[in-house]
Amino acid sequence: MTSHLRKSRLFLPLLILVGLLLFLVFSSLQNQAKLPPLKKHPSYSMLGTPPDWSLLDPYQHRISKRQFLFLLQNIYTIGNDWEKHFTVHEDHISILTGNAEAPTYCLYFAPKSPSQPLSPATFWELNPKRSLRDLHIAIDPGHLGGKWAQIEERWFQIGNGTPVEEGTLTLQTAQHLKTMLEQKGATVSLIRSNDETIAQNSANHYLKRLQKREGENAEQHRRRAEKLVYRTEEIRNRAALVNHDIQPDLVLCLHYNALAWGDPEKPQLTDTNHLHVLINGAYTTSELAHHDERFELVRKILGGNAQHEIGISQAMIKSFQETTQLPLYEYASDSRRAIRISDGVWARNLLANRLYQCPVIFLEPYIMNSHEVYDHVQYGDYEGQKMIHHRMRASITREYAGCVTRALEQYFQP
Ligand SMILES: [Zn+2]
Repeated sequence: MTSHLRKSRLFLPLLILVGLLLFLVFSSLQNQAKLPPLKKHPSYSMLGTPPDWSLLDPYQHRISKRQFLFLLQNIYTIGNDWEKHFTVHEDHISILTGNAEAPTYCLYFAPKSPSQPLSPATFWELNPKRSLRDLHIAIDPGHLGGKWAQIEERWFQIGNGTPVEEGTLTLQTAQHLKTMLEQKGATVSLIRSNDETIAQNSANHYLKRLQKREGENAEQHRRRAEKLVYRTEEIRNRAALVNHDIQPDLVLCLHYNALAWGDPEKPQLTDTNHLHVLINGAYTTSELAHHDERFELVRKILGGNAQHEIGISQAMIKSFQETTQLPLYEYASDSRRAIRISDGVWARNLLANRLYQCPVIFLEPYIMNSHEVYDHVQYGDYEGQKMIHHRMRASITREYAGCVTRALEQYFQP
């Protein structure tokens, strides 16, 4: 009896437990079944969604045909592949939308070239005659720090030296830059202020949805899932912050460049060191075929983003060259992903400079694994100046922030 009682006392909780487990397994299978598999889509960019083309309605009759085609052909696309998705008519251009119910969007041109520059029908407003005091600037410290720096492979260490970590350098630079710009009266927001990702989903979530490629091993498959967290979802969430919450006039994306350093156990230093600045443009053939990217491209043209991005980028190049004497980087002259705008200024279509709706300046100074920058980083963040390779210099993050501040002071003059 005792034994019979003990059995029945155990039996009920066991039954509940098994039932609960079955329920959990079943509902998680159901949840998974709801999510479509993730793969490179011919019609949308990774994690991209169908755009609302009616958001372009306020731009009807605002841009001349000449101006639209000039920007489309010289800054935003390479070659003639745009003609697969855009058809030019006398008084309008029709654009394929990818929407079965309304397959084209017609954008009507202004009757003749408007004499005033384009202005966006959105949250930001830029003008070189505005004072820094009237501007809201968002700073985007590129990448992440902590464990993410190693996952992203934006981290290297030589022996017992100070590790060189892009996401930590960009955050420190952003903090100095915020202080310096605030001293000039600007309103400044940091898009990231710690090491952590703002992605909601884990690598495991994406691992389940991401189809394995042919010949791909488990490690490579996992790396692609991680990239969806720290790159794709992270930047999409930063874009939501920029476009809906912060709504700045300008975003500065801070990066430090690097060349391949080979074996992570034995990273190689190089004598090469250089500088370039990117604006949004140069959409590739496959990017133009994505409905969401095509929409974003048209919105950039209509907002008049390029003229501000070019002017500010040129001021950045001048300022960095005066202080750092860095040579300018050149992409290959036949590059299919970069367009030369002017000395050191290039157009490229990156997730951040496409998704952030206001003008974006994407900075790529310093080669982190050059001998000079490596030695500079080893001194850490110091006040005043120290002798670095025969020149007295501020700490690298303060030098970077100073160059950006002076460029903006030079560009914005009321
Ligand atoms: Zn970077």
